[in-house]
Amino acid sequence: MKNSLVLASLIISLCNPAAALAEKSNLSSKNKDQEIVVFNQKSHKYHSKDCKAAKSCKNCVEISRKKAKEAGAEACKLCSGGD
Ligand SMILES: [Zn+2]
Repeated sequence: MKNSLVLASLIISLCNPAAALAEKSNLSSKNKDQEIVVFNQKSHKYHSKDCKAAKSCKNCVEISRKKAKEAGAEACKLCSGGD
């Protein structure tokens, strides 16, 4: 009985999808800098294009994430800048 419990937890840890997910995000992080984000020129925050705050933003321009970071922008706390 105890042995089958150990086996079950071993199978669960082998099938852990978190490791596979981390590998995937490493691969796609290379293109992240090329993505267009919405940069608030007044608050120096950048948003994903779908962010609520970006849609009502009056001081925003669309630039690449790379340029936003170069301008010293910080990621929005709501959308994490689309990351
Ligand atoms: Zn945002």
